[in-house]
Amino acid sequence: MSRAASSAKTTRVRPDLLPGVLPIYSVTPFTMLDFPQRTACIIWFSGCNMRCPYCHNPQIVKGRGRGDTRQVMDFLKRRQGLLDGVVLSGGEASAYPGLPDFIRDVKALGYAIKLDTNGLRPDTISNFLSQGFLDYIALDYKAPPAKFKSVTGTDKFQLFSETLDILCSQSHVSFEIRTTIHTGLMDENDIMKIMIDLDKRHYTGLYVIQNFVHSDGRPTLGSMPPQKRILETSAIKPAESFDLEFRNFPA
Ligand code: SF4
Repeated sequence: MSRAASSAKTTRVRPDLLPGVLPIYSVTPFTMLDFPQRTACIIWFSGCNMRCPYCHNPQIVKGRGRGDTRQVMDFLKRRQGLLDGVVLSGGEASAYPGLPDFIRDVKALGYAIKLDTNGLRPDTISNFLSQGFLDYIALDYKAPPAKFKSVTGTDKFQLFSETLDILCSQSHVSFEIRTTIHTGLMDENDIMKIMIDLDKRHYTGLYVIQNFVHSDGRPTLGSMPPQKRILETSAIKPAESFDLEFRNFPA
């Protein structure tokens, strides 16, 4: 190898960031629980721009796509008339430049689209809304600013906040906001801070507080231990402007 060649810089492009290439990890063929009013499938995208210690999908977050977009489209064609919704989840589906073309193709088959997102891509969400790509959004409100880094592994609360403002300032696409709570990371005061913030932003939709449940025994992304206690739901005062729902808490 010549000296010039050996010192030349090469730029490696991640194949999953190329337009038209999508890191689809797997497909859940049927769900009636994940897309309100829809019978749906879930497409799981590899990779995520957060590192939540309680994440129970480390294989998806750290993995590479192994699905084939054409196979997924064939699956969706076969399910036309049986399913009416597609959930884009992960990982973080919004991170990929190939997603708009994929959504266009899926919507052309007549499916409604729900996006599960952690909100770190406000420009993408804004673009998707203006193009009419989305029919429902579930936005994770991971933590208040002071705990955002420890809960997500990133200090980009401001980006999440921009996404929340974008969603709160529009009314044509329904969305819900949800927080997963592991009491080793957050407590009742943190939940109240989130709710006060939602109130200040005039949020009027559904806020879901999900108890951390890790039933399959595999390590989470950050090897979180089991919770020593469960959030005291009676300490959470209902909000006036939005609906509150507790999920996965013991009856
Ligand atoms: S829980 Fe956190 S790390 Fe796991 S997929 Fe969701 S945002 Fe990414």
